[in-house]
Amino acid sequence: MHTNPLLDAGDLPRFGAIRPEHVQPAVAAVLADYRARIDALIADPTPRTFANTLLPQEAQENRVERLWSPVSHLHAVADSAALRAVYPGAEEAISDFGIELGQNRDLFVAVKAVADAADFGTLPRAARTLVEHSLRDFRLSGVALEEPARSRFREISNALTRLATEFEEAVLDATQAWTESADATTLAGLPETGLELMRAAARAAGQDGFLVTLTPPSVQAILTHAQNRALRERVYTAYHTRASDQGPHAGEFDNSARIGEILRLRHEAARLLGFANAAEESLATKMAATPARVLDFLHDLARRARPVALREVAALREFARTELGIADLQPWDTGYAAEKLRLKQFALSEEDLKPYFALPAVMDGLLAIVGRVFGVRLRARDGVEVWHPDVRFYDLLDAAGHVFAGCYVDWYARTGKRGGAWMDVCRSRFRHDGIAQIPVAYLTCNFPPPGPHRPSLLTHDEVITLFHEFGHGLHHLLTQIDYPSVAGIDGVEWDAVELPSQFMENFCWQREALALFARHWQTGQVLPDELFARMLAARHFHAGLFLVRQIEFALFDFRLHLEFDPARGARTLELLADVRREVAVITPPAWQRMPHSFTHIFSGGYAAGYYSYLWAELLAADAFARFEENGVFDIATGEAFRESILAVGGSRPALESFREFRGREPQPDALLRSYGLAA
Ligand SMILES: [Zn+2]
Repeated sequence: MHTNPLLDAGDLPRFGAIRPEHVQPAVAAVLADYRARIDALIADPTPRTFANTLLPQEAQENRVERLWSPVSHLHAVADSAALRAVYPGAEEAISDFGIELGQNRDLFVAVKAVADAADFGTLPRAARTLVEHSLRDFRLSGVALEEPARSRFREISNALTRLATEFEEAVLDATQAWTESADATTLAGLPETGLELMRAAARAAGQDGFLVTLTPPSVQAILTHAQNRALRERVYTAYHTRASDQGPHAGEFDNSARIGEILRLRHEAARLLGFANAAEESLATKMAATPARVLDFLHDLARRARPVALREVAALREFARTELGIADLQPWDTGYAAEKLRLKQFALSEEDLKPYFALPAVMDGLLAIVGRVFGVRLRARDGVEVWHPDVRFYDLLDAAGHVFAGCYVDWYARTGKRGGAWMDVCRSRFRHDGIAQIPVAYLTCNFPPPGPHRPSLLTHDEVITLFHEFGHGLHHLLTQIDYPSVAGIDGVEWDAVELPSQFMENFCWQREALALFARHWQTGQVLPDELFARMLAARHFHAGLFLVRQIEFALFDFRLHLEFDPARGARTLELLADVRREVAVITPPAWQRMPHSFTHIFSGGYAAGYYSYLWAELLAADAFARFEENGVFDIATGEAFRESILAVGGSRPALESFREFRGREPQPDALLRSYGLAA
């Protein structure tokens, strides 16, 4: 076993040596050892302490992470048939083991004894938080309950898992059930990328010509670009009635009963755990502590955004009537009309901006900003084992030149690599028992590779993506907490975890920051003022409409869980209509069935948590406003942000960290400004 590179004790994973056949034996060995140590811990009669009860678990979790992070990373960025063959089994073994630990009542009792000990209050803050989080998670998993509540809770959990899968499968089946063959005339108005998408869909179905489908990019392309209004209406209707009692496949994949059942069981489970409802349960792991706080936030935002959205939709109606000949603007027209209006107002295409965003220059600019604001230097290191020759490794150095963290960057799209952009943990900071492990991150993007005679050129959205993921990276890498479970992004309330990433995005809209890297790759010319002004104007285009739509989703989700009454059932459509009366400026037809395919809240992890998107954005904008006040490169403000937010990770409540940095509670003014809305 000692030749298995996944069990290597070195500083970095040995990507050059890891093979699919190493996965299963390494997972089996580490989990068997983990189980044996937990058994020994439980059998140990000595009084429970943080050091003898929590730290051994941290050490074992760290071993699992050291072994599993390179495997799951390879699965995402360098997949192969051999890896795919062993991956699901190993993943299941690890996740089953996690569930087993979460259900271990003896372990719960042991952790509780640490919290109940007389000296608990004298432990360092991070240690106390680690214990409190552990107990909270045991309670939320039902382990702390007495019989028969414990068995009933387990039954409900299993039923909810099954219902979530069924919900998602119904949406998937409904999405695939509807297609429509089309010719180039029907698809007039679509850009080449949209046509190619539909040509590929036809090819995949063994057909000639074009096939319109309900995959999001296809729907997006039709609703934004197709001149054929009847086609837009058919696609809108099919898409927004998926898995429901309406539309072309009415009743076939209907999620109506599942929605009612999911809400009923969530409510019952929350009550068993001692919460008034599922919304309160959701807030147990979030920063917005009370339902009233969430509702106030959303209602306040709605009140400010709605007048702007109303003006926007009035202008859009007028434009559609006079310039597009659409007298009665319908939901299937808004995306199309908005795109035409946007082009007319700003005449700004991604292609105009790309030459100013060459990846090497953008990266240099990003590193310069991080250096100036946070006093951190990144130095490329050659000779590190990687999974592809394009991957670079950077050491992070402090002012004294000491290496305190590391980071892999993998920029380019290629086959065998999953799409999108993300930051993932490779190693966590962990100091214990002679171990001094430094944090290491993976930063993954899917940017276009460079050509033979030109660098990789990014859209402005891609530049924002790069800064966003780098923000997550900084959160992980600049942590000063020694226990992985509450260091960096771990243990942070999840409506606050996007703070550092969304915070970093703001630099992409600052003239001083852009001046560092937005230069024409051929002429060296700085991004012209005129182009920058159009970028800013386009940024705020239909901001009110965007906000009221997000608020509608968030309010619907939250109130659905908060106001559930077992005596009256789910009342899903009634509540949706009520929310729309308050916030919507374009009311969809009565047959529209948005809830039936709302996977975020019925099969994803966003139940009573959809508001988190806007909440984190508020925090990020408000935090960045302190930089706007003091200068966007102000080193003292950078230091304060680093110390109050980045360094402490999940070791204390996010609200406390925010208050320390801002000197007050979060306020929405900066968020509204970032949307071009007056506060
Ligand atoms: Zn993010």
